[in-house]
Amino acid sequence: MTHELVQLVQAADYAARQHIAQRRKGDAAEPYINHLTEVAALLAEATDGDDIVLLMGGLLHDTLEDTDSTYEDLVQRFGSEVAALVAEVTDDKSLRKEERKRLQIEKTPSKSRRAKLLKIADKTSNLRSLVRSPPSGWTAERLRDYVVWAEAVVRSCRGLNARLEAGFDAAFAEAKRCFGT
Ligand code: ZN
Repeated sequence: MTHELVQLVQAADYAARQHIAQRRKGDAAEPYINHLTEVAALLAEATDGDDIVLLMGGLLHDTLEDTDSTYEDLVQRFGSEVAALVAEVTDDKSLRKEERKRLQIEKTPSKSRRAKLLKIADKTSNLRSLVRSPPSGWTAERLRDYVVWAEAVVRSCRGLNARLEAGFDAAFAEAKRCFGT
């Protein structure tokens, strides 16, 4: 347990450093680390904190997509299981945005249990953040499209954790209420 706590705190520290200059898109410009700790907290609550790889993956899930971290960095620091999980939830940035979004719906059902749980927590955090602080540059249509897409991704990987899914459903209901999908 002690060793796992050390690893978890190291992952939080590393994620905070890697995302140091990034902010969320919403007008409140929340520090990006808030998204990562929220995702890890959602996963910890839903699983009673019994899967350290999942929680570390939650903290690190955007490092490959949005920072200069490499797969090898993650293997070296946090082990191959954590690195593989992060890679599993990382979009291929060489593809166009619409294609990446389509692939998330198509590919998520065949991913690992951990990757699916992480996706649900990620979308829950993103919807909550949109409701709390929508980006002013986004049209009503873009907000609605995001909410509909997030639900489609989650729908593709349900059936693993009722608590996590209930959290998503609450965030989705609130987003629908706000943006009228
Ligand atoms: Zn994320």
